[in-house]
Amino acid sequence: MQQPGAVTRADAYRTQTHSIAQTAVQNIFENAMTEICSLSLTQAAQALQKKELSAVDAVTACLARMDATEPRIAAMLTVDREGALAAAAALDKEGPNPAKPLWGVPVTVKDALSTKGLRTTAGSRILENYTPFYDAFAVQQLREAGAVILGKNNMDEFAMGSTTENSSYQTTRNPRDVNRVPGGSSGGSAASVTAGQCFASLGTDTGGSIRQPASLCGCVGLKPTYGRVSRYGVIAYGSSLDQVGPLTRSVEDCARVLGVIAGHDQRDGTCAPRPVDDYVTALNSKPLKGARLGIPKEFFGEGLAPEVRAVCQNAMSIAQAQGAELVEVSLPHTDAAIATYYIIAMAEASSNLARFDGVRYGRRAADIKNLEDLYVRSRTEGFGQEVKRRIMLGAYVLSSGYYDAYYRKAAQVRRLIRDEYLAALDKCDALWAPVSPVPAWNVGSLTADPLQMYLMDAYTLSLNLAGLPGLSMPVGVGAESGLPVGMQLFGKAFAEGELLSLGHALEQVLPGVGAPAL
Ligand code: GLN
Repeated sequence: MQQPGAVTRADAYRTQTHSIAQTAVQNIFENAMTEICSLSLTQAAQALQKKELSAVDAVTACLARMDATEPRIAAMLTVDREGALAAAAALDKEGPNPAKPLWGVPVTVKDALSTKGLRTTAGSRILENYTPFYDAFAVQQLREAGAVILGKNNMDEFAMGSTTENSSYQTTRNPRDVNRVPGGSSGGSAASVTAGQCFASLGTDTGGSIRQPASLCGCVGLKPTYGRVSRYGVIAYGSSLDQVGPLTRSVEDCARVLGVIAGHDQRDGTCAPRPVDDYVTALNSKPLKGARLGIPKEFFGEGLAPEVRAVCQNAMSIAQAQGAELVEVSLPHTDAAIATYYIIAMAEASSNLARFDGVRYGRRAADIKNLEDLYVRSRTEGFGQEVKRRIMLGAYVLSSGYYDAYYRKAAQVRRLIRDEYLAALDKCDALWAPVSPVPAWNVGSLTADPLQMYLMDAYTLSLNLAGLPGLSMPVGVGAESGLPVGMQLFGKAFAEGELLSLGHALEQVLPGVGAPAL
Protein backbone atom coordinates (compact mmCIF):
# COMPACT_ATOMS: atom_id res chain seq x y z
CA MET A 1 0.00 0.00 0.00
CA GLN A 2 1.22 3.47 -0.83
CA GLN A 3 2.78 5.37 2.08
CA PRO A 4 2.34 9.11 2.54
CA GLY A 5 6.10 9.55 1.96
CA ALA A 6 5.59 9.01 -1.76
CA VAL A 7 3.73 12.27 -1.93
CA THR A 8 6.90 14.19 -1.15
CA ARG A 9 8.93 12.16 -3.66
CA ALA A 10 6.42 12.90 -6.39
CA ASP A 11 6.48 16.56 -5.46
CA ALA A 12 10.25 16.53 -5.73
CA TYR A 13 10.01 15.09 -9.22
CA ARG A 14 7.48 17.64 -10.34
CA THR A 15 9.65 20.56 -9.24
CA GLN A 16 12.39 19.12 -11.49
CA THR A 17 15.49 19.08 -9.29
CA HIS A 18 18.76 18.86 -11.21
CA SER A 19 21.62 16.50 -12.20
CA ILE A 20 22.59 13.31 -10.35
CA ALA A 21 20.11 13.97 -7.61
CA GLN A 22 17.46 14.26 -10.26
CA THR A 23 18.26 10.84 -11.73
CA ALA A 24 18.14 9.29 -8.28
CA VAL A 25 14.88 11.02 -7.45
CA GLN A 26 13.48 10.01 -10.79
CA ASN A 27 14.26 6.34 -10.14
CA ILE A 28 12.62 6.47 -6.74
CA PHE A 29 9.72 8.30 -8.33
CA GLU A 30 9.30 5.72 -11.08
CA ASN A 31 9.26 2.86 -8.59
CA ALA A 32 6.77 4.68 -6.40
CA MET A 33 4.60 5.44 -9.41
CA THR A 34 4.67 1.85 -10.66
CA GLU A 35 3.66 0.73 -7.18
CA ILE A 36 0.63 3.02 -7.25
CA CYS A 37 -0.33 1.75 -10.70
CA SER A 38 -0.12 -1.88 -9.53
CA LEU A 39 -2.92 -1.33 -7.03
CA SER A 40 -6.39 -2.50 -7.94
CA LEU A 41 -9.08 0.15 -8.34
CA THR A 42 -10.57 -1.07 -5.06
CA GLN A 43 -7.26 -0.61 -3.22
CA ALA A 44 -6.57 2.75 -4.84
CA ALA A 45 -10.07 4.05 -4.06
CA GLN A 46 -9.64 3.02 -0.42
CA ALA A 47 -6.19 4.62 -0.14
CA LEU A 48 -7.58 7.81 -1.68
CA GLN A 49 -10.52 7.95 0.73
CA LYS A 50 -8.14 7.47 3.66
CA LYS A 51 -5.83 10.20 2.34
CA GLU A 52 -2.96 7.71 2.11
CA LEU A 53 -2.77 8.77 -1.51
CA SER A 54 -3.68 12.15 -2.96
CA ALA A 55 -5.69 12.49 -6.17
CA VAL A 56 -2.83 14.46 -7.73
CA ASP A 57 -0.38 11.68 -6.94
CA ALA A 58 -2.70 9.01 -8.34
CA VAL A 59 -3.04 11.01 -11.56
CA THR A 60 0.68 11.78 -11.71
CA ALA A 61 1.47 8.08 -11.32
CA CYS A 62 -0.86 7.09 -14.15
CA LEU A 63 0.44 9.84 -16.45
CA ALA A 64 4.01 8.71 -15.77
CA ARG A 65 3.00 5.13 -16.53
CA MET A 66 1.45 6.35 -19.77
CA ASP A 67 4.67 8.15 -20.71
CA ALA A 68 6.60 4.96 -20.07
CA THR A 69 4.26 2.55 -21.90
CA GLU A 70 2.59 4.53 -24.71
CA PRO A 71 5.58 4.32 -27.07
CA ARG A 72 5.09 0.53 -27.01
CA ILE A 73 1.29 0.11 -26.88
CA ALA A 74 -0.33 3.27 -28.33
CA ALA A 75 -3.54 2.85 -26.32
CA MET A 76 -4.40 6.56 -26.15
CA LEU A 77 -5.70 8.93 -28.83
CA THR A 78 -5.95 12.01 -26.60
CA VAL A 79 -4.36 12.58 -23.19
CA ASP A 80 -5.78 15.42 -21.11
CA ARG A 81 -2.76 15.99 -18.88
CA GLU A 82 -3.66 19.50 -17.70
CA GLY A 83 -7.36 18.80 -17.33
CA ALA A 84 -6.73 15.66 -15.29
CA LEU A 85 -4.18 17.31 -12.99
CA ALA A 86 -6.48 20.30 -12.49
CA ALA A 87 -9.45 18.04 -11.70
CA ALA A 88 -7.31 16.07 -9.24
CA ALA A 89 -6.05 19.26 -7.56
CA ALA A 90 -9.63 20.45 -7.16
CA LEU A 91 -10.59 17.11 -5.58
CA ASP A 92 -7.65 17.27 -3.18
CA LYS A 93 -8.72 20.74 -2.14
CA GLU A 94 -12.25 19.54 -1.34
CA GLY A 95 -11.01 16.41 0.41
CA PRO A 96 -12.22 12.80 0.09
CA ASN A 97 -15.90 12.10 0.17
CA PRO A 98 -17.33 8.63 0.94
CA ALA A 99 -20.41 9.52 -1.12
CA LYS A 100 -18.14 9.54 -4.18
CA PRO A 101 -17.05 5.92 -4.62
CA LEU A 102 -14.43 6.70 -7.28
CA TRP A 103 -13.04 9.80 -5.58
CA GLY A 104 -9.66 10.63 -7.15
CA VAL A 105 -9.50 7.42 -9.22
CA PRO A 106 -7.84 7.96 -12.65
CA VAL A 107 -9.72 6.34 -15.52
CA THR A 108 -9.65 6.37 -19.32
CA VAL A 109 -12.58 6.28 -21.72
CA LYS A 110 -13.04 4.78 -25.18
CA ASP A 111 -13.15 7.49 -27.83
CA ALA A 112 -16.71 6.47 -28.75
CA LEU A 113 -18.06 8.21 -25.65
CA SER A 114 -18.56 11.97 -25.80
CA THR A 115 -16.49 13.98 -23.34
CA LYS A 116 -17.28 17.62 -22.75
CA GLY A 117 -14.45 19.84 -23.97
CA LEU A 118 -12.27 16.85 -24.87
CA ARG A 119 -11.75 15.73 -28.46
CA THR A 120 -13.86 12.68 -29.39
CA THR A 121 -13.05 11.00 -32.71
CA ALA A 122 -14.53 7.46 -32.55
CA GLY A 123 -11.25 6.48 -34.22
CA SER A 124 -12.33 8.24 -37.42
CA ARG A 125 -10.82 11.00 -39.54
CA ILE A 126 -14.31 12.34 -40.09
CA LEU A 127 -14.37 13.43 -36.42
CA GLU A 128 -10.73 14.48 -36.29
CA ASN A 129 -11.48 17.92 -34.87
CA TYR A 130 -14.72 17.20 -33.07
CA THR A 131 -15.02 18.39 -29.47
CA PRO A 132 -18.38 17.61 -27.86
CA PHE A 133 -20.05 20.20 -25.65
CA TYR A 134 -21.59 17.58 -23.40
CA ASP A 135 -20.63 14.38 -21.57
CA ALA A 136 -22.07 10.96 -22.33
CA PHE A 137 -24.25 9.80 -19.43
CA ALA A 138 -21.71 7.19 -18.33
CA VAL A 139 -18.91 9.78 -18.39
CA GLN A 140 -21.02 12.20 -16.38
CA GLN A 141 -21.66 9.46 -13.82
CA LEU A 142 -17.92 8.78 -13.55
CA ARG A 143 -17.17 12.44 -12.93
CA GLU A 144 -19.96 12.74 -10.36
CA ALA A 145 -18.51 9.73 -8.53
CA GLY A 146 -15.18 11.60 -8.30
CA ALA A 147 -13.23 9.78 -11.05
CA VAL A 148 -10.62 11.73 -13.01
CA ILE A 149 -10.62 11.26 -16.77
CA LEU A 150 -7.08 11.03 -18.11
CA GLY A 151 -7.94 10.78 -21.78
CA LYS A 152 -9.47 8.84 -24.63
CA ASN A 153 -8.63 5.34 -25.81
CA ASN A 154 -7.86 4.21 -29.31
CA MET A 155 -10.51 2.06 -31.02
CA ASP A 156 -11.52 0.63 -34.37
CA GLU A 157 -13.19 3.32 -36.44
CA PHE A 158 -16.80 3.66 -35.22
CA ALA A 159 -16.22 0.46 -33.19
CA MET A 160 -16.12 -1.65 -36.37
CA GLY A 161 -13.44 -4.24 -35.91
CA SER A 162 -11.85 -6.81 -33.63
CA THR A 163 -8.24 -5.59 -33.31
CA THR A 164 -8.03 -1.71 -33.33
CA GLU A 165 -6.28 -2.06 -36.70
CA ASN A 166 -9.28 -0.25 -38.21
CA SER A 167 -8.47 2.90 -36.25
CA SER A 168 -7.70 5.78 -38.62
CA TYR A 169 -4.91 6.92 -36.32
CA GLN A 170 -2.82 4.08 -34.89
CA THR A 171 -2.75 0.39 -34.06
CA THR A 172 -2.79 -0.44 -30.37
CA ARG A 173 -0.52 -3.29 -29.23
CA ASN A 174 -1.22 -5.99 -26.67
CA PRO A 175 0.72 -5.19 -23.47
CA ARG A 176 1.33 -8.94 -22.89
CA ASP A 177 3.13 -9.20 -26.25
CA VAL A 178 3.49 -6.10 -28.37
CA ASN A 179 3.61 -8.10 -31.62
CA ARG A 180 0.01 -9.16 -30.97
CA VAL A 181 -3.28 -7.31 -31.33
CA PRO A 182 -5.06 -6.26 -28.13
CA GLY A 183 -8.44 -7.22 -29.62
CA GLY A 184 -11.14 -4.72 -30.48
CA SER A 185 -12.90 -2.57 -30.90
CA SER A 186 -12.20 -1.38 -27.31
CA GLY A 187 -8.55 -2.50 -27.67
CA GLY A 188 -7.21 0.84 -26.42
CA SER A 189 -9.28 0.51 -23.24
CA ALA A 190 -8.15 -3.07 -22.56
CA ALA A 191 -4.49 -2.26 -23.25
CA SER A 192 -4.59 0.85 -21.06
CA VAL A 193 -6.10 -1.05 -18.11
CA THR A 194 -3.76 -4.02 -18.56
CA ALA A 195 -0.65 -1.84 -18.75
CA GLY A 196 -1.61 -0.03 -15.53
CA GLN A 197 -2.13 3.37 -17.18
CA CYS A 198 -5.43 3.74 -15.32
CA PHE A 199 -7.57 1.79 -12.84
CA ALA A 200 -10.53 1.31 -15.17
CA SER A 201 -11.77 2.23 -18.59
CA LEU A 202 -15.15 2.39 -20.26
CA GLY A 203 -15.68 0.54 -23.51
CA THR A 204 -18.65 -0.21 -25.73
CA ASP A 205 -19.77 -3.67 -26.81
CA THR A 206 -21.90 -4.11 -29.94
CA GLY A 207 -20.78 -7.64 -30.76
CA GLY A 208 -18.02 -8.37 -28.27
CA SER A 209 -15.95 -5.19 -28.22
CA ILE A 210 -15.55 -5.15 -24.43
CA ARG A 211 -15.39 -8.89 -23.74
CA GLN A 212 -13.02 -9.89 -26.56
CA PRO A 213 -10.24 -7.32 -25.91
CA ALA A 214 -10.52 -8.07 -22.17
CA SER A 215 -9.95 -11.74 -23.01
CA LEU A 216 -7.06 -11.10 -25.42
CA CYS A 217 -5.27 -8.73 -22.99
CA GLY A 218 -6.08 -10.65 -19.81
CA CYS A 219 -8.33 -8.24 -17.93
CA VAL A 220 -12.00 -8.16 -16.92
CA GLY A 221 -14.75 -6.71 -19.14
CA LEU A 222 -18.50 -6.56 -18.67
CA LYS A 223 -21.19 -6.04 -21.28
CA PRO A 224 -24.30 -5.09 -19.30
CA THR A 225 -27.87 -6.02 -20.22
CA TYR A 226 -29.18 -3.86 -23.07
CA GLY A 227 -30.77 -0.89 -21.31
CA ARG A 228 -28.77 -1.11 -18.06
CA VAL A 229 -26.43 1.77 -19.00
CA SER A 230 -27.62 4.80 -20.94
CA ARG A 231 -26.35 5.19 -24.49
CA TYR A 232 -26.75 8.97 -24.30
CA GLY A 233 -23.63 10.53 -25.75
CA VAL A 234 -22.29 7.29 -27.20
CA ILE A 235 -21.37 7.59 -30.87
CA ALA A 236 -23.75 5.01 -32.29
CA TYR A 237 -22.75 1.93 -34.27
CA GLY A 238 -25.66 -0.54 -33.99
CA SER A 239 -28.19 1.12 -31.72
CA SER A 240 -30.13 -2.04 -30.85
CA LEU A 241 -26.88 -3.81 -29.86
CA ASP A 242 -24.56 -1.15 -28.33
CA GLN A 243 -23.92 -1.14 -24.58
CA VAL A 244 -21.37 0.74 -22.47
CA GLY A 245 -19.45 -1.23 -19.86
CA PRO A 246 -16.34 -1.31 -17.66
CA LEU A 247 -12.90 -2.84 -18.27
CA THR A 248 -10.87 -3.39 -15.10
CA ARG A 249 -8.17 -5.58 -13.56
CA SER A 250 -10.50 -7.47 -11.22
CA VAL A 251 -14.14 -8.49 -10.94
CA GLU A 252 -14.58 -6.46 -7.78
CA ASP A 253 -13.26 -3.35 -9.56
CA CYS A 254 -15.75 -4.04 -12.34
CA ALA A 255 -18.63 -4.18 -9.82
CA ARG A 256 -17.60 -0.78 -8.44
CA VAL A 257 -17.57 0.88 -11.85
CA LEU A 258 -20.84 -0.71 -13.01
CA GLY A 259 -22.57 0.58 -9.87
CA VAL A 260 -21.52 4.08 -10.88
CA ILE A 261 -22.42 4.05 -14.59
CA ALA A 262 -25.68 2.05 -14.46
CA GLY A 263 -29.02 3.70 -13.94
CA HIS A 264 -31.99 5.34 -15.56
CA ASP A 265 -31.56 8.23 -17.94
CA GLN A 266 -34.54 9.74 -19.72
CA ARG A 267 -32.38 10.88 -22.63
CA ASP A 268 -32.07 7.26 -23.81
CA GLY A 269 -35.52 5.85 -24.52
CA THR A 270 -34.21 2.27 -24.27
CA CYS A 271 -32.62 2.78 -20.85
CA ALA A 272 -34.37 0.72 -18.16
CA PRO A 273 -36.12 2.60 -15.35
CA ARG A 274 -34.99 0.04 -12.85
CA PRO A 275 -33.11 0.55 -9.60
CA VAL A 276 -29.39 -0.25 -9.65
CA ASP A 277 -28.32 -3.18 -7.46
CA ASP A 278 -25.51 -2.80 -4.96
CA TYR A 279 -23.04 -4.87 -6.99
CA VAL A 280 -20.21 -4.63 -4.46
CA THR A 281 -22.28 -5.92 -1.55
CA ALA A 282 -23.67 -8.65 -3.81
CA LEU A 283 -20.16 -9.92 -4.62
CA ASN A 284 -20.28 -12.69 -2.04
CA SER A 285 -23.91 -13.64 -2.63
CA LYS A 286 -23.33 -16.47 -5.09
CA PRO A 287 -20.83 -19.12 -3.97
CA LEU A 288 -19.48 -21.62 -6.48
CA LYS A 289 -20.73 -24.47 -4.33
CA GLY A 290 -24.09 -25.45 -5.73
CA ALA A 291 -23.96 -22.99 -8.66
CA ARG A 292 -25.30 -24.49 -11.89
CA LEU A 293 -23.19 -23.42 -14.85
CA GLY A 294 -24.49 -24.24 -18.33
CA ILE A 295 -21.82 -25.12 -20.87
CA PRO A 296 -23.11 -24.43 -24.39
CA LYS A 297 -21.80 -27.30 -26.50
CA GLU A 298 -21.74 -25.25 -29.71
CA PHE A 299 -18.98 -23.06 -28.21
CA PHE A 300 -16.66 -26.05 -27.93
CA GLY A 301 -16.78 -27.15 -31.57
CA GLU A 302 -14.05 -27.51 -34.16
CA GLY A 303 -13.02 -23.86 -34.41
CA LEU A 304 -11.72 -23.73 -30.85
CA ALA A 305 -7.90 -23.72 -30.65
CA PRO A 306 -6.54 -26.68 -28.63
CA GLU A 307 -4.71 -24.49 -26.12
CA VAL A 308 -7.84 -22.39 -25.48
CA ARG A 309 -9.86 -25.58 -25.03
CA ALA A 310 -7.28 -26.91 -22.56
CA VAL A 311 -7.31 -23.72 -20.45
CA CYS A 312 -11.14 -23.71 -20.42
CA GLN A 313 -11.29 -27.38 -19.46
CA ASN A 314 -8.87 -26.78 -16.61
CA ALA A 315 -10.97 -23.84 -15.38
CA MET A 316 -14.12 -25.97 -15.57
CA SER A 317 -12.60 -28.78 -13.53
CA ILE A 318 -11.43 -26.29 -10.89
CA ALA A 319 -14.97 -24.89 -10.70
CA GLN A 320 -16.34 -28.42 -10.39
CA ALA A 321 -13.89 -29.25 -7.62
CA GLN A 322 -15.22 -26.17 -5.79
CA GLY A 323 -18.72 -27.60 -5.91
CA ALA A 324 -20.11 -25.98 -9.06
CA GLU A 325 -22.37 -28.18 -11.13
CA LEU A 326 -21.66 -28.10 -14.87
CA VAL A 327 -24.56 -28.91 -17.16
CA GLU A 328 -24.40 -29.20 -20.93
CA VAL A 329 -26.82 -26.89 -22.74
CA SER A 330 -27.43 -26.22 -26.41
CA LEU A 331 -27.74 -22.96 -28.36
CA PRO A 332 -28.47 -24.51 -31.78
CA HIS A 333 -28.51 -21.27 -33.78
CA THR A 334 -25.01 -20.22 -32.70
CA ASP A 335 -23.70 -20.85 -36.21
CA ALA A 336 -26.24 -18.37 -37.64
CA ALA A 337 -25.15 -15.62 -35.26
CA ILE A 338 -22.36 -14.23 -37.44
CA ALA A 339 -24.57 -13.73 -40.49
CA THR A 340 -27.46 -12.42 -38.40
CA TYR A 341 -25.29 -10.01 -36.47
CA TYR A 342 -23.48 -8.59 -39.49
CA ILE A 343 -26.74 -7.96 -41.35
CA ILE A 344 -28.32 -6.15 -38.40
CA ALA A 345 -25.18 -4.29 -37.29
CA MET A 346 -24.38 -3.09 -40.82
CA ALA A 347 -27.98 -2.05 -41.48
CA GLU A 348 -28.06 0.02 -38.30
CA ALA A 349 -24.58 1.41 -38.99
CA SER A 350 -25.52 2.57 -42.48
CA SER A 351 -28.42 4.48 -41.00
CA ASN A 352 -26.50 5.88 -37.98
CA LEU A 353 -23.58 7.04 -40.09
CA ALA A 354 -25.80 9.00 -42.47
CA ARG A 355 -25.53 11.92 -40.04
CA PHE A 356 -21.87 12.46 -40.97
CA ASP A 357 -22.53 14.58 -44.01
CA GLY A 358 -19.88 17.27 -43.77
CA VAL A 359 -22.52 19.77 -42.64
CA ARG A 360 -23.30 19.06 -39.02
CA TYR A 361 -20.34 17.19 -37.59
CA GLY A 362 -16.63 17.02 -38.11
CA ARG A 363 -14.77 17.05 -41.36
CA ARG A 364 -15.94 19.05 -44.36
CA ALA A 365 -14.23 18.70 -47.74
CA ALA A 366 -12.58 21.86 -49.09
CA ASP A 367 -13.43 23.60 -52.41
CA ILE A 368 -16.75 21.86 -52.92
CA LYS A 369 -18.76 22.46 -56.08
CA ASN A 370 -22.29 21.80 -54.84
CA LEU A 371 -24.22 20.01 -52.07
CA GLU A 372 -23.78 16.53 -53.50
CA ASP A 373 -20.08 17.12 -53.94
CA LEU A 374 -19.94 18.21 -50.28
CA TYR A 375 -21.56 14.95 -49.10
CA VAL A 376 -19.60 12.67 -51.38
CA ARG A 377 -16.18 14.17 -50.83
CA SER A 378 -16.54 14.72 -47.07
CA ARG A 379 -17.56 11.09 -46.61
CA THR A 380 -15.03 9.73 -49.09
CA GLU A 381 -12.19 11.53 -47.35
CA GLY A 382 -13.48 11.04 -43.81
CA PHE A 383 -14.41 7.34 -43.63
CA GLY A 384 -11.98 4.42 -43.73
CA GLN A 385 -12.29 1.29 -45.87
CA GLU A 386 -14.08 -0.97 -43.37
CA VAL A 387 -16.63 1.71 -42.52
CA LYS A 388 -17.36 2.26 -46.21
CA ARG A 389 -17.75 -1.49 -46.74
CA ARG A 390 -20.30 -1.68 -43.92
CA ILE A 391 -22.27 1.37 -45.03
CA MET A 392 -22.61 -0.15 -48.51
CA LEU A 393 -23.57 -3.61 -47.25
CA GLY A 394 -25.95 -2.10 -44.72
CA ALA A 395 -27.69 0.03 -47.34
CA TYR A 396 -27.93 -3.08 -49.56
CA VAL A 397 -29.66 -5.30 -46.96
CA LEU A 398 -32.14 -2.51 -46.23
CA SER A 399 -32.92 -1.75 -49.88
CA SER A 400 -36.49 -2.46 -51.00
CA GLY A 401 -35.64 -5.48 -53.14
CA TYR A 402 -33.58 -7.23 -50.46
CA TYR A 403 -35.12 -6.13 -47.17
CA ASP A 404 -37.26 -9.26 -46.76
CA ALA A 405 -34.51 -11.64 -47.77
CA TYR A 406 -31.87 -10.20 -45.45
CA TYR A 407 -32.95 -7.73 -42.81
CA ARG A 408 -36.36 -9.22 -41.98
CA LYS A 409 -34.93 -12.75 -41.93
CA ALA A 410 -32.09 -11.63 -39.66
CA ALA A 411 -34.58 -10.01 -37.26
CA GLN A 412 -36.47 -13.34 -37.12
CA VAL A 413 -33.34 -15.39 -36.46
CA ARG A 414 -32.36 -12.87 -33.80
CA ARG A 415 -35.56 -13.70 -31.95
CA LEU A 416 -34.79 -17.44 -32.15
CA ILE A 417 -31.33 -16.81 -30.73
CA ARG A 418 -32.75 -14.83 -27.82
CA ASP A 419 -35.35 -17.52 -27.07
CA GLU A 420 -32.64 -20.20 -27.07
CA TYR A 421 -30.57 -18.23 -24.58
CA LEU A 422 -33.58 -17.74 -22.31
CA ALA A 423 -34.45 -21.46 -22.48
CA ALA A 424 -30.84 -22.43 -21.64
CA LEU A 425 -30.70 -19.92 -18.79
CA ASP A 426 -33.89 -21.41 -17.32
CA LYS A 427 -31.93 -24.57 -16.59
CA CYS A 428 -28.98 -22.95 -14.78
CA ASP A 429 -27.65 -19.90 -12.95
CA ALA A 430 -25.40 -18.75 -15.77
CA LEU A 431 -23.79 -20.01 -18.98
CA TRP A 432 -20.01 -20.28 -19.23
CA ALA A 433 -18.07 -20.27 -22.51
CA PRO A 434 -14.83 -19.20 -24.19
CA VAL A 435 -14.65 -15.61 -25.48
CA SER A 436 -12.33 -15.95 -28.46
CA PRO A 437 -11.55 -19.11 -30.42
CA VAL A 438 -7.83 -18.25 -30.33
CA PRO A 439 -5.52 -16.16 -28.11
CA ALA A 440 -4.30 -12.76 -29.38
CA TRP A 441 -3.01 -13.06 -32.95
CA ASN A 442 -0.17 -11.19 -34.67
CA VAL A 443 -0.68 -7.61 -35.77
CA GLY A 444 -1.40 -7.54 -39.51
CA SER A 445 -2.10 -11.25 -39.88
CA LEU A 446 -5.85 -10.94 -40.64
CA THR A 447 -6.22 -7.43 -42.02
CA ALA A 448 -6.36 -8.60 -45.63
CA ASP A 449 -9.20 -11.03 -44.91
CA PRO A 450 -12.27 -9.27 -43.47
CA LEU A 451 -14.38 -12.47 -43.55
CA GLN A 452 -11.86 -14.36 -41.44
CA MET A 453 -11.85 -11.40 -39.07
CA TYR A 454 -15.68 -11.56 -38.75
CA LEU A 455 -15.41 -15.28 -37.88
CA MET A 456 -13.27 -14.40 -34.85
CA ASP A 457 -16.40 -12.90 -33.26
CA ALA A 458 -18.34 -16.18 -33.34
CA TYR A 459 -18.56 -16.53 -29.53
CA THR A 460 -19.43 -12.96 -28.61
CA LEU A 461 -22.00 -11.67 -31.12
CA SER A 462 -25.01 -13.76 -30.15
CA LEU A 463 -25.20 -12.28 -26.64
CA ASN A 464 -25.75 -8.79 -28.08
CA LEU A 465 -28.45 -10.15 -30.37
CA ALA A 466 -30.12 -11.56 -27.24
CA GLY A 467 -29.60 -8.30 -25.28
CA LEU A 468 -28.25 -10.18 -22.23
CA PRO A 469 -25.29 -9.45 -19.92
CA GLY A 470 -21.85 -11.08 -20.22
CA LEU A 471 -18.79 -10.96 -17.98
CA SER A 472 -15.42 -11.80 -19.57
CA MET A 473 -12.53 -12.66 -17.27
CA PRO A 474 -9.13 -14.33 -17.53
CA VAL A 475 -9.14 -18.04 -16.62
CA GLY A 476 -5.53 -18.94 -17.36
CA VAL A 477 -2.65 -18.76 -19.80
CA GLY A 478 -2.26 -20.83 -22.99
CA ALA A 479 0.52 -23.43 -22.71
CA GLU A 480 1.72 -22.83 -26.27
CA SER A 481 1.48 -19.05 -26.67
CA GLY A 482 1.88 -17.95 -23.05
CA LEU A 483 -1.01 -15.56 -23.68
CA PRO A 484 -4.12 -15.03 -21.55
CA VAL A 485 -7.31 -16.97 -22.23
CA GLY A 486 -10.68 -15.63 -21.12
CA MET A 487 -14.08 -17.14 -20.50
CA GLN A 488 -17.42 -15.34 -20.29
CA LEU A 489 -20.38 -15.84 -17.98
CA PHE A 490 -23.76 -15.11 -19.57
CA GLY A 491 -26.78 -14.28 -17.41
CA LYS A 492 -30.46 -13.46 -17.50
CA ALA A 493 -31.49 -9.87 -18.14
CA PHE A 494 -30.30 -7.59 -15.31
CA ALA A 495 -28.50 -10.45 -13.53
CA GLU A 496 -25.21 -8.49 -13.49
CA GLY A 497 -25.05 -8.89 -9.69
CA GLU A 498 -25.12 -12.69 -9.96
CA LEU A 499 -22.57 -12.77 -12.77
CA LEU A 500 -20.17 -10.53 -10.85
CA SER A 501 -20.60 -12.64 -7.74
CA LEU A 502 -19.89 -15.86 -9.64
CA GLY A 503 -16.95 -14.18 -11.39
CA HIS A 504 -15.59 -12.99 -8.07
CA ALA A 505 -15.80 -16.52 -6.66
CA LEU A 506 -14.09 -17.94 -9.75
CA GLU A 507 -11.36 -15.32 -9.60
CA GLN A 508 -10.37 -16.57 -6.12
CA VAL A 509 -9.73 -20.11 -7.35
CA LEU A 510 -8.60 -19.81 -10.98
CA PRO A 511 -5.00 -19.22 -12.08
CA GLY A 512 -4.38 -15.49 -12.59
CA VAL A 513 -2.54 -13.95 -15.52
CA GLY A 514 -0.55 -11.38 -13.55
CA ALA A 515 -1.33 -7.68 -13.88
CA PRO A 516 -0.45 -5.06 -14.83
CA ALA A 517 1.71 -6.16 -17.77
CA LEU A 518 4.78 -4.57 -19.43
N1 GLN B 1 -16.02 -7.08 -34.09
C1 GLN B 1 -17.41 -6.79 -34.16
C2 GLN B 1 -17.68 -5.84 -35.31
O1 GLN B 1 -16.77 -5.50 -35.96
C3 GLN B 1 -17.91 -6.23 -32.86
C4 GLN B 1 -17.55 -4.82 -32.66
C5 GLN B 1 -18.15 -4.20 -31.46
O2 GLN B 1 -18.61 -4.88 -30.53
N2 GLN B 1 -18.20 -2.89 -31.49
O3 GLN B 1 -18.77 -5.44 -35.54
